[in-house]
Amino acid sequence: MTPVLEREAVFWSDNGRRICRSCAGMSALYTGHDISGQAVERVTLADVRDWPDDLGPLGCEDGCTTLSPVAGPDGWPLAATKAGAR
Ligand SMILES: [Zn+2]
Repeated sequence: MTPVLEREAVFWSDNGRRICRSCAGMSALYTGHDISGQAVERVTLADVRDWPDDLGPLGCEDGCTTLSPVAGPDGWPLAATKAGAR
């Protein structure tokens, strides 16, 4: 199977938890759905820009991927830090 989550992206998982490709569970990584069966949704540029400053940079909760409020060539937010070598 091929992971369905993009590299250097962050996704909303169940209960507002944030995950990235490196720290997603197997379910989310390969099916795009978390363990509760809910589809994970990629964090958009608007999400990053709406993110309150006092919560720190918007990234996954394990800190492997952090997004910047800058659009990449594909229109998704660019990662501010590189995810681990995967
Ligand atoms: Zn992560």
